[in-house]
Amino acid sequence: MHKLTLKELSAQLQARKISATELATLFLDRIDASDLNAFLHVDRELTLAQAKVADSRLSGNNAGQLTGVPIAHKDIFVTRGWRTTAGSRMLDNYVSPFDATVVEQFNAAGTVTLGKLNCDEFAMGSGNENSYFGPTLNPWDKRAVPGGSSGGSAAAVAARLAPAATATDTGGSIRQPASLCGVTGIKPTYGSVSRYGMIAFASSLDQGGPIAKTAEDCGLLLNAMTGFDERDSTSLQRPKEDFTRSLNDSLQGLRIGVPKEFFGAGLAADVEAAVRAALSEFEKLGAKLVEISLPKTELSIPVYYVIAPAEASSNLSRFDGVRYGHRAADYGNLDDMYRKSRAEGFGEEVKRRILVGSYVLSHGYYDAYYLQAQKIRRLIAQDFQNALAGANRQCDVIMGPVSPTVAWDLGDKTNDPVANYLADIFTLSTSLAGLPGMSIPCGFGQGEKNGKRPVGLQIIGNYFDEARLLNVAHQFQQATDWHLREPA
Ligand code: GLN
Repeated sequence: MHKLTLKELSAQLQARKISATELATLFLDRIDASDLNAFLHVDRELTLAQAKVADSRLSGNNAGQLTGVPIAHKDIFVTRGWRTTAGSRMLDNYVSPFDATVVEQFNAAGTVTLGKLNCDEFAMGSGNENSYFGPTLNPWDKRAVPGGSSGGSAAAVAARLAPAATATDTGGSIRQPASLCGVTGIKPTYGSVSRYGMIAFASSLDQGGPIAKTAEDCGLLLNAMTGFDERDSTSLQRPKEDFTRSLNDSLQGLRIGVPKEFFGAGLAADVEAAVRAALSEFEKLGAKLVEISLPKTELSIPVYYVIAPAEASSNLSRFDGVRYGHRAADYGNLDDMYRKSRAEGFGEEVKRRILVGSYVLSHGYYDAYYLQAQKIRRLIAQDFQNALAGANRQCDVIMGPVSPTVAWDLGDKTNDPVANYLADIFTLSTSLAGLPGMSIPCGFGQGEKNGKRPVGLQIIGNYFDEARLLNVAHQFQQATDWHLREPA
């Protein structure tokens, strides 16, 4: 049962072949028996209470497709009942008095919450090693990182501890862990999913999305998570759409842009081989490959690592031990209390970003760093528009690697923040442009040390082209079985 997709589980529930309570119990038992540190907070009673409600909805006639389906939430979405820590000591004992909009939407659909998933502190990281609660392990190889910052979400789905999970992506945190754990994830167009109750990292980039086994499941989840929310000032006002509407469209004639900047030095040979094999598979499905150029790709790292810390330094100022967060036990005056509370509450990487962010926003440096980064951000977005839009558009979607390497060993990059930042090279530009992007499993790395570590293919589309991305991914998943492979 734990191997089934969300779509299949939904059919089992609707046919009353299994109850929501039985299903929740099955997954809770698997979570109890797992040693991956994927879950931070589990509460059997709360989960089973939700399952009971779902069961009564299923036996009446107000059940929807997701009613009774168990899912888990990244611990950055606030939840009534379950603690919400964002992977930080700062929020160690925080219980929110309200649910995030995303959580509210899933609760309304009748999903059953299995618990809260580990992540990098305030979603800052690429390996899930920045969590105050310790790293999540990669289910394919426990010596490896699961990717980050949504490492718990990707590991839980890969290890079949949950059929699907919510996640967030600021610069790659849905796509990169999905890639490193061999599961499917999509970051929709910025503004599609409400950020209300999603603990803020960099507000102009943060975007929620799902991680699941298949593209089809991701579509079902997006149907529930997207939509206008007046409580989020950047939420888009668009009609509701069915993201699964074009899953079965043919790929005949599809033009796939292959950016040459995504295949240069720094891309590991095993990742390149798996991605190129996937591109050939698409040719067999009727698509055409077109070489394109995204010349500003390289600049996405310095630009992102100015803008994201700038926004983070502002967002995190609310954690002062008074309005929010941990308060030091011993302190002298007010300044001392702020200083000690923040020194104790935040981890190294978060402090580094607050310092960088405050610096680039400060008088005299604002123009040189922050403003300059904003200008280049616009040019990065223009690169994509040149390829995907206008009279001279070259392609319908863009494909390439998600991560330059397969999952690295735990501890390998912990003392080298820049090495971590460099691993984001292929995901940051999409986020800076606000475009939708996804990762689907497409093979395994063959490195000596890295036997059996998954490789993800990235699929990027123009604004609001999620249904097409899911169509493209679904067709690939009908023709291949990478997404069905499971860790031992
Ligand atoms: N790895 C990037 C960072 O550390 C992206 C994280 C994210 O998308 N939340 O900021």
